[in-house]
Amino acid sequence: MNSPTTMPEWEYAPAPERVDPGIADRHRLFIGGRFVASRGRKTFETINPATEAVLSRCDEANAADVDAAVESARAAFRKWSRTKPQERAKYLYRIARRIQERARELAVLETMDGGKPIRESRDVDIPLVAQHFFHHAGWCDKLRYAFPGATDPRPLGVCAQVIPWNFPLLMLAWKIAPALACGNTVVLKPAETTPLTALRFAEICEECELPAGVVNILTGAGETGRLMVEHPGVDKIAFTGSTEVGKRIAAATAGTGKRLTLELGGKSPNIIFADASIDQAIEGIVQGIWFNQGHVCCAGSRLFVQESVLAEVIEKLKRRLGTLRVGDPLDKNTDVGAINSGPQLATIQRYLKEGTAEGATMHQPSTCPLPEKGFWCQPCFFSDVQPNHVIAREEIFGPVLAVMSFRTPEEAISRANDSRFGLAAGVWTDKGSKIFEIASRLQAGVVWLNTYNQFDATSPFGGVKESGFGREGGLHGLRGYLKF
Ligand code: NAD
Ligand code: MN
Repeated sequence: MNSPTTMPEWEYAPAPERVDPGIADRHRLFIGGRFVASRGRKTFETINPATEAVLSRCDEANAADVDAAVESARAAFRKWSRTKPQERAKYLYRIARRIQERARELAVLETMDGGKPIRESRDVDIPLVAQHFFHHAGWCDKLRYAFPGATDPRPLGVCAQVIPWNFPLLMLAWKIAPALACGNTVVLKPAETTPLTALRFAEICEECELPAGVVNILTGAGETGRLMVEHPGVDKIAFTGSTEVGKRIAAATAGTGKRLTLELGGKSPNIIFADASIDQAIEGIVQGIWFNQGHVCCAGSRLFVQESVLAEVIEKLKRRLGTLRVGDPLDKNTDVGAINSGPQLATIQRYLKEGTAEGATMHQPSTCPLPEKGFWCQPCFFSDVQPNHVIAREEIFGPVLAVMSFRTPEEAISRANDSRFGLAAGVWTDKGSKIFEIASRLQAGVVWLNTYNQFDATSPFGGVKESGFGREGGLHGLRGYLKF
């Protein structure tokens, strides 16, 4: 192995955009430290949603593959859980550095397979992936100090981890880094539309000589995920995805003794007070809902604006929205890329129709010509939205914002909390006292103050209500992978 010698550089960001990531036309499963063909014969294609070109064909793991992966993770757990914490840390540091070294390739591949702008995969996703491994490498030999009073925190065993398509490699990092740091082994399944970076991660595990079976990657769709979470050899399940599937997993897990963390959907409020810096808030709104095409579980998709500045905010929002560049995700000037899949685009379009039918007014000021092929949705927002409108209640998971107003702080809080979800919230005001009072009363796992969609490996992320339970990141995130 090429032993990397550089020091951790979390801020490192890779440069150019058009790197040929050299995609093989066939991908296998990663079980027991080797790439192996599925025991079944089923495969599926992954496409570039910006061009509809087929990128590769992947194996669809069946029950026998899941058995093999869980067995290999079980065997590896016996050694890995007893490996000196300092040794485990070395592997995690190596992985983190290797991710930095391959950052350009990973960013391009992430953008090609999933449709997100290269600027985001290059400047946000991949640097955060590396940061997660660096951060958790540091925890390996400090777990006793992390939880004073708990004499001997122990790993749980084999973790089944199922992740979504909106931040493919970042969600992998959120799942795998803490699991390994705590001494667990994993079987992870990426989403069926974005499997490629997880398979590159498997290559990185090989390059770093991570012991066989500590990380297993199975590609497949919902059925593979179901087989994983229902497997009796699994000790812990970590899932990020839709609330619907999350509920199904919770039901299937009840009474099995398996540990479970769920990170599900959201319909997060972003609250703008009249005393806020409006121009700054506009940028926060843009970042909150149009980042990653709105395919963000914590997207600020319900905007509440204090009545006295509503007209100003709507005007400025229209103007700013008109400047967003929609199109080729590999172009470094693109702000909004492709919708991740045909079905997701159809879902978004259904909500757009419904919003108009319910009487809200749609604003879609962007005039960017859209490519012929691929899945595209011009970013937009609705005004004249009523709290009972479907577009104000359901997660759209697209570049669609619902704008509403409020008069008093009390009204802002009660309307913000009037949701079955509780993932995130944003508050914009110049009054420090107001910020903390309101933040403490919002039913949300994460509250951003005068900012939005900021992520960091040190800060816990997760929801309340139907947005799930358990935290990922920081000290809190470690709890989900330990028993005391
Ligand atoms: P999904 O929940 O079906 O998929 C997420 C992951 O779960 C994928 O890897 C999928 O293969 C797997 N999966 C599907 N069914 C499963 C099952 N029965 N058991 C175990 N794993 C299973 O999400 P989707 O269909 O891709 O998207 C639908 C909606 O979900 C979106 O419109 C959005 O509202 C929401 N969503 C939320 C997030 C999030 O980050 N919270 C991510 C993706 C989608
Ligand atoms: Mn794809």
